This record gives sequence, structure tokens and C-alpha cells, in this order.
Amino acid sequence: MKPLLIAGNWKMYTVRASAIELAQQLRAGLASLLAQGGLEVVLLPPAPFLLEVVQVLAGTAIAVGAQCCHGEDEGAYTGAVSAPMIASTGARWVLCGHSERRRLFGESNREVGAQLRAALRAGLRPVLCVGETLEQREAGRTHEVVALQLRHALEGLDGAQAARVVIAYEPVWAIGTGRSASPQQAAEVHGAIRALLPAAAASEVRILYGGSVKPDNAAELLGQPQIDGVLVGGASLHADSFCAIAQAGSAVARARLAHETAGDSAARAAAGG
Ligand code: PEP
Repeated sequence: MKPLLIAGNWKMYTVRASAIELAQQLRAGLASLLAQGGLEVVLLPPAPFLLEVVQVLAGTAIAVGAQCCHGEDEGAYTGAVSAPMIASTGARWVLCGHSERRRLFGESNREVGAQLRAALRAGLRPVLCVGETLEQREAGRTHEVVALQLRHALEGLDGAQAARVVIAYEPVWAIGTGRSASPQQAAEVHGAIRALLPAAAASEVRILYGGSVKPDNAAELLGQPQIDGVLVGGASLHADSFCAIAQAGSAVARARLAHETAGDSAARAAAGG
């Protein structure tokens, strides 16, 4: 079973002391859940705090990532952060194409593709964010928009590279609005995304849902078999709410494992083993 992935995007929140404090709280709050297995947690603090958050979480199963990277490995790009810089802090993940980057910083599909390739070159695991605006959904263009975002980002990757990518389906209208997609809406787009993935990677790639995930809707969303985890924004800034979401993930992971084990035993019994 692929572990469920619970990722927390801290956006442009926290200062040094509060970032360290939040990491310490999560280190303590998630230890017993992570020991049960089936769950992977990634925290995405602001870039200036990557190194210290990595240090706070050293020796734990909690990984750290950045919220964006540049598509070039180095150069005269004042203010930008490269994938090799991120990797050199000990962080292992990076978001590519978050809708706030696309919308507020004008990042195009082509640039997101370059960032994703830069992340892979640096040995980072990219989380590729895709999703439609409300206008696009209402115009019936959700699948077309998401397919275009995927095509640009994954173009030219071989099966092994594509398998290192995690995709986060984040409808733009659900991010930071308190209005989550319904579990059915999310599951439907997740199914369409999986059908578009290169055959060599399709079963490996985890597809997360993101957009107003909170403790009170996490279990229902994660309960959809098409959903392999969640990308959490606002609710990841409070240890209590993020731990509650991880708790819901852990319960789902254990239920999936039990289901798989029961299926294996039934198959062995049917085969007379
Ligand atoms: C996000 O930042 O990716 C996100 C999903 O934010 P929120 O959970 O606050 O909607």
C-alpha cells in the first residue's frame, strides 16, 4: 500500500521563533501516529526557515519541503530560490505550480514544468499542484484545464521520473475559502488525473486533494479510495488541527491496510494456499 501523504503548506506565515515552535509541537504531536506506519507527513515552511525546521525534525519520519523553486539551477535571478539550494538544507520536497504562485506571481504552465524538472534534477520530490478556477468549473472546463497543466508539467519525463512526482488536485475556488470540494467532486477529478498519467507511473503516483481541508472534513475526503492524501494550508498552521487531520489519515491508512490484508488472505484461501 502507498502511504497516505499529509502535507502542510505554511504559506507566508510564521517568523523564525513561531516556525520552530510549530515544528517542535508537530514533532511531539505526530510521533505516535507515525510509529503506526501507513502515513507520510511533509511540512512546507517558508524558505528562510527550511534549515532550522529540518534540524528540529532530524531523526523523525517528518520530511520538509519548500513552497516553490526556480526552473534554473543557478543564475542572476534576484530573490529566487533554486532547487539545489533547497536540497542543500536537507529538505526533500518542493511544491510546483501552487495556484497562488500561478495566479499572484504569473507562473505559467511552461515555467511550472521547468521547476518540476529542476526539482527532479536536484533529487527533490515535487508536488505538482493542478486545479481549475470556479469560472472554468462552471464552464465545464475542469478536465481540459487540469489535463493541460499535467501535460506541460510531465512532458518528456520517463516512467521513473514521473513516479517521483506527487500530484495535488487543488480546485482554486476551494483554496483558503472554507469551501472544500465534495468528496465526490474530488474523487471524480482524481480518477480523471490518474487516467492521464503515463502508464509506467500511473499506479505509483499519489494524488492528493487540497482546498479547505479541516479536521471536520478530512476523514470523509481521505475515505475516498481515489484520494492518496491531502495538502493542507490554513489548518496546517495550528498543531492541533494538523494533528487531527493526520489522525484521520492514520485511521484511513490502517483501514486500507486491513482491507488489503483481508483481500490477500481471501485470494490465498481461494487458491487453496
Ligand atoms: C493550500 O495552500 O494548498 C491550501 C489548500 O490551502 P487551504 O487548506 O487553506 O485551503
